[in-house]
Amino acid sequence: MQIVWFKRDLRVFDNEAFKKACDKGPILPLYIFEEDLWKKSPMCMKHYTFLKQSLDDLNNDLEKLGQTLIIEKNSAIEVFKEYKEKYNINTVWSHQETWNYWVKQRNDKLSEWFSFNNIRWIEVIQNGVIRNLKSREGWAKKWNISMNKKVFSAVTRLVKTSDKTYKIPDYKELGLKEEKNKNFILGGRREGLKLLESFLYDRSKNYSIQMSSPSTAIVSCSKLSAHISFGTLSIKEIYQMANKRIELLKNNPLKENKVWIKSIRSFLKRLYWHCHFIQKLEDEPSIEFKNMHSLYDGLRENEFNEKFFVAWKNGTTGFPFLDACMRSLKVNGWINFRMRAMLMSFASYHLWLHWKHTSDFLATLFIDYEPGIHYTQSQMQSGTTGINSIRIYNPIKQGKDHDPEGLFIRKWIPELSNIPQKDIHTPWLSEVKLKNYPLPLVDEATARKEAAKKIYKIRNSKKFKEQSNNIYLKHGSRKINYKNKSKNLINRTDQLSLF
Ligand SMILES: Cc1cc2nc3c(=O)[nH]c(=O)nc-3n(C[C@H](O)[C@H](O)[C@H](O)COP(=O)(O)OP(=O)(O)OC[C@H]3O[C@@H](n4cnc5c(N)ncnc54)[C@H](O)[C@@H]3O)c2cc1C
Repeated sequence: MQIVWFKRDLRVFDNEAFKKACDKGPILPLYIFEEDLWKKSPMCMKHYTFLKQSLDDLNNDLEKLGQTLIIEKNSAIEVFKEYKEKYNINTVWSHQETWNYWVKQRNDKLSEWFSFNNIRWIEVIQNGVIRNLKSREGWAKKWNISMNKKVFSAVTRLVKTSDKTYKIPDYKELGLKEEKNKNFILGGRREGLKLLESFLYDRSKNYSIQMSSPSTAIVSCSKLSAHISFGTLSIKEIYQMANKRIELLKNNPLKENKVWIKSIRSFLKRLYWHCHFIQKLEDEPSIEFKNMHSLYDGLRENEFNEKFFVAWKNGTTGFPFLDACMRSLKVNGWINFRMRAMLMSFASYHLWLHWKHTSDFLATLFIDYEPGIHYTQSQMQSGTTGINSIRIYNPIKQGKDHDPEGLFIRKWIPELSNIPQKDIHTPWLSEVKLKNYPLPLVDEATARKEAAKKIYKIRNSKKFKEQSNNIYLKHGSRKINYKNKSKNLINRTDQLSLF
């Protein structure tokens, strides 16, 4: 008997593990709820809801093929111990998983147990991330090759191997608190496909122009991140459909199509970044909790200001645009890249909060929580990677640039309804008295300059460069010829800070 262990690949289409296992013979399709993972990671009710919708959809597809999805709630090792006795399993198929440290440790233990028990565990590549990568040289080329491979076709029939009824554990059994929100992105492959189609054939037209403002990004960005993260769609199929869409647009000589093509090309670039970031965590799992550049150790740890943290979490820092972003994120479970970067940067620089606490909190708000992107991005926006240029977002300027009329602010901060238009970004300067909205926690310019001074003091030290160069060689994207420019590496951006 073979087992197909579904993890973050909740689909039957373009699912290499599923397809290859079915080609070999009967399978048991399995998903495991591991209580310990839910307890020890930032996963919460919104992740559970998205997951439940996705599993329901997956189960529908499997049922039509002849075998329902089997759900277990236990530690993975206990499940496989039981299955070894019950089904005489010889092979377990799954996708390679680069997730948080808990998952890595579970996989390491499980791998040992499988080999001790003569069970083959075949883990196929999930996306463009490469396990045991020797060097980042040529990585982009390999990514392109894997994205252009043929998609795995659907399976037509499954042999019935189990009578177990499909039933998902209740959220309370996993220790989760109820959280209802009709604004959250819906899970499941069908919803993912709808989003992809509406994006490629309608919403993406002005993606590259409208991705930066939270008011326009909510329509013009793909909002596919949670689907990619849970694997209801494969990144390869998205990549190929986007390329097909570009070809169609090319066939039509309309002038506006040039802008549209440009937009879809920048979307494709981001699919590449998805894997580029996860590769970093695959190569260095400690990125989840340790500064990438060790000279930053100790910089923020002992200065954590709980009062600042609470105000930042509640959207009551006194900076209207920033607070509006936090409040909108809580309601939607999603916000665009620039605003995520601003939220993180403000917490790390202006409020001098350690990124580990703030990023773990944000992870509970993002439905698309993906540790490989999340922690590397969080470190990047906190200046601790050692290879990216320092970018400190000024929330007042961001507000003026991306919400010039203050409409987004007014939507999310009703306390400011009486503040005149000219003061909406800086209400503390208004002659109208603030009602129920706080004064800014810090003076923006002073806090920004002080933070920059502390960061640059370390960055300009002699010891800094050597480690930075090594970090770049291990993790940096390779668009420049690093061999000829090794001395200047740390002054280069890692491409991705060009936002
Ligand atoms: C502090 C911080 C934390 C983040 N945490 C996450 C996270 O937990 N999960 C997550 O998926 N993204 C994360 N991002 C990256 C990015 O903000 C989101 O991927 C994006 O906003 C999701 O919206 P979308 O699907 O509409 O993206 P689109 O703009 O439509 O892009 C398409 C896809 O490309 C990928 N992508 C887009 N931008 C980036 C990026 N900058 N880096 C890597 N991949 C990218 C995502 O898979 C995304 O779905 C984070 C960014 C920051 C600054």
